[in-house]
Amino acid sequence: MKAAVVRAFGEPLVIEERPDPEPGPGQIRVRLEASGLCHTDIHAARGDWPVRPSPPFVPGHEGVGLVEALGDGVTHLTLGQRVAMPWLGWACGRCEHCLSGWETLCEEQINTGYGCDGGYAEKMLARADFAQPVPDGIDPLDAAPLTCAGVTTYKALKVAAVRPGQLVAVSGVGGLGHLAVQYAKIAGATVAAIDVTDDKLDLAEGLGADLVIDARKEDPGEVLKRHGGAHAAIALAVNEEAFSSAYSGLRRGGKLVMVALPAHGTIPVPIFGTVLNGTSVIGSIVGTRQDLAEVFGLHAAGRTRVIRETRPLASVNDSIEDALAGRIKARIVFDLRQGS
Ligand code: NAD
Ligand code: ZN
Ligand code: ZN
Repeated sequence: MKAAVVRAFGEPLVIEERPDPEPGPGQIRVRLEASGLCHTDIHAARGDWPVRPSPPFVPGHEGVGLVEALGDGVTHLTLGQRVAMPWLGWACGRCEHCLSGWETLCEEQINTGYGCDGGYAEKMLARADFAQPVPDGIDPLDAAPLTCAGVTTYKALKVAAVRPGQLVAVSGVGGLGHLAVQYAKIAGATVAAIDVTDDKLDLAEGLGADLVIDARKEDPGEVLKRHGGAHAAIALAVNEEAFSSAYSGLRRGGKLVMVALPAHGTIPVPIFGTVLNGTSVIGSIVGTRQDLAEVFGLHAAGRTRVIRETRPLASVNDSIEDALAGRIKARIVFDLRQGS
């Protein structure tokens, strides 16, 4: 099987031929059909964050495919069943976080494409209990971006406790943001979408954003304030200034939900304003298996649209450059089906 491998941080990925991995107890082997390129994979390949993966590794946590082999003890999945392999590759199931519905905070978790090999490959292993069944009728090329971009933004809106009629700012309309706009609309919010490319601003409008803000031309914080301030701002742009600007556009009692992860990112949070205005700054990390089931359910019901372009895995290095330069539709999905 072929896999795109990070051999050293900051170096181009290398397409390698590898033997098919054998599933151990509790694991499955999946023949991948589709795999999305999340900006997190770029951070992983560059070693951007304080906790780094160990090269060589195969990135990718938006893999979707068909179960090809079952390890010992796996009884709830069947051969040929379609599953998705999200960032949360495994969690302990015993700690306070796992037991209270916050498995995404488990300190023992293993992350797909980071702590174990991921979906930039024709085949991969997964823990059966964390491979999410994909409902019939969802195109695997759509299921892939939903597996991270979808679940992460769906969860971020839950964390913000968005209610109908509230003003929600979505800062960054990329892979994550184009789905955030849609979940915010589903939640009944008025949506302000912020980006720095014409294509993404047009896309946001097409997806139902009520207000689009071009951060190259206007300060998003000021525009949001002119509209009364945001009840919630979802920070998805890989840019510290965009976080600060979104924070400054909150109304009293508003919440900044931090999702993007710029390398070494920090923002100054003014204590006086935060106290007097009763604002919150909250981190939000992916979503649980239940959140992903809900995301798939919404898509199967025709409530969301995944905007994507498909490419072969061999284009991985050019695709990363194009994603960084903003030269892509919302998400790149590698089409891994045989013969494609
Ligand atoms: P992306 O590159 O597809 O999207 C980023 C968008 O931000 C682009 O549309 C870009 O034009 C826009 N942008 C850039 N500068 C901007 C600015 N100053 N103001 C407004 N918009 C701006 O990336 P993505 O795949 O959507 O991921 C976004 C970030 O979220 C990454 O840092 C990724 O690692 C992180 N992420 C976090 C989680 C989590 O659980 N917290 C999960 C997935 C991804
Ligand atoms: Zn745990
Ligand atoms: Zn991701």
